[in-house]
Amino acid sequence: MTATLVLVINSGSSSIKYQLVDPVGGDAVASGLVERIGEPEGHIRHKVGERTVERRGRIADHTEGLRQVFDLFAETGQDLASAGVGAVGHRVVHGGEEFNAPTLIDDDVLAEIHRLRELAPLHMPANAAGIESARELLPDVPQVAVFDTAFFNGLPAAARTYAIDAKVAREHGIRRYGFHGTSHEFVSGRVAEILGKDPAELNQIVLHLGNGASASAIRGGRAVDTTMGLTPLEGLVMGTRSGDIDPAIFGYLQRVASMDTDSVDDLLNRNSGIKGLSGVNDFRELGELVELGDVAAKLAFDVYIHRLRRYIGAYMVELGRVDTITFTAGVGENDAVVRAAALAGLEGYGISVDEARNNAKSKVARVISPVASPVIVFVVPTNEELAIARAALRLVRNPGPS
Ligand code: AMP
Repeated sequence: MTATLVLVINSGSSSIKYQLVDPVGGDAVASGLVERIGEPEGHIRHKVGERTVERRGRIADHTEGLRQVFDLFAETGQDLASAGVGAVGHRVVHGGEEFNAPTLIDDDVLAEIHRLRELAPLHMPANAAGIESARELLPDVPQVAVFDTAFFNGLPAAARTYAIDAKVAREHGIRRYGFHGTSHEFVSGRVAEILGKDPAELNQIVLHLGNGASASAIRGGRAVDTTMGLTPLEGLVMGTRSGDIDPAIFGYLQRVASMDTDSVDDLLNRNSGIKGLSGVNDFRELGELVELGDVAAKLAFDVYIHRLRRYIGAYMVELGRVDTITFTAGVGENDAVVRAAALAGLEGYGISVDEARNNAKSKVARVISPVASPVIVFVVPTNEELAIARAALRLVRNPGPS
């Protein structure tokens, strides 16, 4: 019997990332990236096993992009219409107040996703376009939306509420939603699995440090706090985003520098963080600059670590007892210097990193704290596509009450 596969789609404003996943074995059967949709020359890179096929040429919109991807699947011997695709799982950035779990997509759900557009104007229209295209191209396959905010939908009121006029907040849906939820849930689940424990028994801190970065505090399998808020701008210092700043900076820049709303938004989301401070946003380049004695790069690194430690401290207090601290995503999985600096000097709290374990290069989940450490420190590779594929197939097989 052939495995049921899930096509996972992550649409950005001018791109589509996709993977055909075997949710049981966990492997990506094929994967690829459509880029520069709507520009004069688009580009598709499609990978099956060791083989990569590329295509260049104008790609008018998301439907056209997906159509070409379907052609590439067929050309490389996997006709999606007959490949045993049991579900399409869509990564949807914002689930608003409404969506707290993976959801089977029908016309009403799609309309609601369109309605949530203002909460993430760069992402939601693209997510909706990806869904519409996939429904058109695979009309008989169930489509499932997996929301990046869902894991944080149940944050306690004190953690999700901004201290602003309650009426204004209610009227405009202003509250802390949190993002990267699929990753935080997947990674904390893997930690419980590795320890052979029920997630309900564990208090965890998860540090998702990629180009975007967020931390979460998870008590007994439920998220009780996270660093991102109404949008993914809040919290940790990131590759290009500032994370927390004094909100008055926004208005101040508009007044003294005559910047309009879009330029300040752009400054804080695209030209701040590590890039704004050092000129580079990739931690490999940042590390090299620091080694060369670059003062701006060292300051960027220090600001990044300072903010990270501030939240680790906050979450230790919130949780009271911490069993595990886990690093994940591009920086968290690969940068031993960041990991060591994030947890330096915390031996008094039962937290330390074993130098040899931390420096060992590996692509698998592993413990980097010393043997018998009171708090176990992990590095766990995240796999949002696999998490989405599993969630989608679970829902399709067991839809539950509607
Ligand atoms: P992600 O958003 O999870 O894909 O993470 C991407 C980021 O991970 C890149 O921008 C780099 O800053 C970082 N990264 C990837 N590989 C490494 C590495 N080997 N060492 C340090 N940082 C890395």
